[in-house]
Amino acid sequence: MLIVQKFGGSSVADPEKVRRVAGIIADTYCEGHDVVVVLSAQGKTTDHLIEMARQINERPSKREMDMLLSTGEQMSIALMAMAIERMGLPVVSLCAWQVGLETNCAHCNAQILRVDVDRLQAELDKRRIVLVAGFQGLARTGDITTLGRGGSDTTAVAIAAALHADRCQIFTDVEGVYTADPRDVPDARKLAEITYDEMLELASLGAKVLHNRSVLMAKRYGVNLEVLSSYVRKPGTKVKEVVKTMEEMKISGIAKDLNVARIAVIGLPDEPGMAFRVFRALANARINVDIILQSVGRDGTNDISFTVPRSDLEAAREAIEAYRDVLGFDHVNVDDKVAKVSIVGAGMMTASGIAAMMFEALSDAKINIQMISTSEIKVSVLIDEAYADRAVQAIHEAFFR
Ligand code: ADP
Ligand code: ASP
Ligand code: MG
Repeated sequence: MLIVQKFGGSSVADPEKVRRVAGIIADTYCEGHDVVVVLSAQGKTTDHLIEMARQINERPSKREMDMLLSTGEQMSIALMAMAIERMGLPVVSLCAWQVGLETNCAHCNAQILRVDVDRLQAELDKRRIVLVAGFQGLARTGDITTLGRGGSDTTAVAIAAALHADRCQIFTDVEGVYTADPRDVPDARKLAEITYDEMLELASLGAKVLHNRSVLMAKRYGVNLEVLSSYVRKPGTKVKEVVKTMEEMKISGIAKDLNVARIAVIGLPDEPGMAFRVFRALANARINVDIILQSVGRDGTNDISFTVPRSDLEAAREAIEAYRDVLGFDHVNVDDKVAKVSIVGAGMMTASGIAAMMFEALSDAKINIQMISTSEIKVSVLIDEAYADRAVQAIHEAFFR
């Protein structure tokens, strides 16, 4: 079999952990499999690199950030290669540009366009263990790019798809995908299986156990994906198209996202074209809008509220203020002390009363809902950030007691 394994930052944080992971890789190889391994930067290396940059320049260019951030993964593959060499096994480490992992030019958030399998295949044919630096890519300009925080998962899935690997195993510091972040909810249950669609929603709504683009790619190419622990050797969570348990579970999981801020544009003239102009201004500033709420018009005016990533709050406010004359609103107010809590489950498509159960749990916990948004398989609410953990626990209690 051809197996792609990915180990996250915490799994390779220090020499002892590097040796332990080398043991997992060696075991897989010695069972007779072809092994490609994708690694993240050790521990909090990427955070430290970001902090180092900030001490030099408050607003560094994204190109130079990529030049800096890509170094963390290069360190990891070299160290892991040394650990495997020491065990007497054949190994080679490769950066993204050696593999031929091509991305677009969107520095710090690049999308993978192509993976050239020739070099990878040649190394596998020599029966070598191949280590690939995650998170990084090469743009057509010849510049180094990175895929966005948590992007090593996407490197692993892209390589698994390109090589038609039999399995793609994402090893991390928890035993799989749980019904909620096990750090927030000690009673959270490990899921044996979850669908690509549900996992994509959970990852996009704040569950960082998988990078959301890795799930999208796994679905598109039918990659056989599993999330499992680097520390205990037991089955993790399989991510697939269809799962057996779908009908029985009301929801699959709960996610929390603190990278949210709310903006309210108050006193807009109640006339056609206003929503268009507000959201066109935001789109021009390349700001992603999530939940949108428009009030019922009163006295010829109307309010529109929406959420944006907290990191885009100032840019969003500036984009709206710049159109004050055209839009003719009264004022703008913002709140960055909010959180989005969501429930996800394919079962929602057929069962009724799921949203009501969530709202009841929040009501019993005396938590006020500021905004609501729904899709076929998810319900999200915007609440005060201070109550986010309590909300997740209360909702978990209601659904998984
Ligand atoms: P890695 O460094 O291995 O990529 P991450 O920190 O990116 O690891 O992702 C693993 C973390 O994701 C876990 O430690 C856990 O706190 C968090 N997490 C959030 N939601 C979930 C969930 N539903 N199931 C499992 N882990 C989750
Ligand atoms: N090292 C990168 C990060 O911390 C990529 C990853 O870990 O997946 O975001
Ligand atoms: Mg991660």
